[in-house]
Amino acid sequence: MRTRFPPSPTGALHLGGARTALFNWLFARNLGGELVFRLEDTDRKRSKEEYTQSIIQAMDWLGMSYDDGPYYQTKRFDRYRQAIDQLLAEGKAYWCHCTPEEVDAKREQAKKEGKKPMYDSTCREKNLGPAPGAVVRFKSPKSGQTVFKDLVKGVISWDNKELDDLVILRSDGTPTYHLAVVVDDIDMKVSHVIRGDDHVANTPRQILLFEALGAPLPQFGHVPMILGPDKTRLSKRHGATSVMEYKTQGFLPEAMVNMLARLGWSHGDQEIFSVEELIKYFGLEHVGKSAAVFDMDKLIHI
Ligand code: GLU
Repeated sequence: MRTRFPPSPTGALHLGGARTALFNWLFARNLGGELVFRLEDTDRKRSKEEYTQSIIQAMDWLGMSYDDGPYYQTKRFDRYRQAIDQLLAEGKAYWCHCTPEEVDAKREQAKKEGKKPMYDSTCREKNLGPAPGAVVRFKSPKSGQTVFKDLVKGVISWDNKELDDLVILRSDGTPTYHLAVVVDDIDMKVSHVIRGDDHVANTPRQILLFEALGAPLPQFGHVPMILGPDKTRLSKRHGATSVMEYKTQGFLPEAMVNMLARLGWSHGDQEIFSVEELIKYFGLEHVGKSAAVFDMDKLIHI
């Protein structure tokens, strides 16, 4: 089995990202599997090599080693294009000539009619070819449900009518997030996708892409988000956001790993674990279903 940690190098490794990395690492180590490390650097304006390096440093400090990678999405554009061409050739995707303004107007119109603001598939059956400004869209099924059994949340089902025809190739020739992630997870033989539950709504779309590309589905586990002690989304005012700031403050990596693991995962009432114990006991069945609370004061007492 293989898990993956695919941060976007648009900033330092923050607590949420470090916890995602740790859960994937522990899950792989617990089952004798492998962790793939990939940099999702397609946002060229915001991605920086210095952030990649600081993420690697933080993983090193926390003792999380990876078995495959680092892969960089910006070096895989040819492969993404090949997958898009495959979908086009098989009639599972199409060129769309609607301008962004037209798409916005269609969404607005849908909203006015009390419907979900979605693209209305105008170009879906037109058999158009490439043109300046054109994008490629995936043909989302117009009926049925996409259902998966989440390893943390249980069965999740999605009405396919809620999914519009997703852009998979932008007009500037770059692939979109969903397409790149799915092609990567296929090529890198990822068997388990463990990530924050802010990605739940992405999963049905990605499942449809896996299926269209003829690939087996990985298993998905979505971990509840981390809140501050005041129960609002974790942010800078709840303490340092980069894990390396804790190193500067003199925290030991073992304490940090212990605290990160306990953000949503538990094993009876034990509070302090060695790394060996975490590897031995870790499993998604003991990840809570509600949000985890990060409390700086508790960290200081560890
Ligand atoms: N690069 C994404 C992020 O940093 C992760 C995407 C994923 O896990 O599928 O949020």
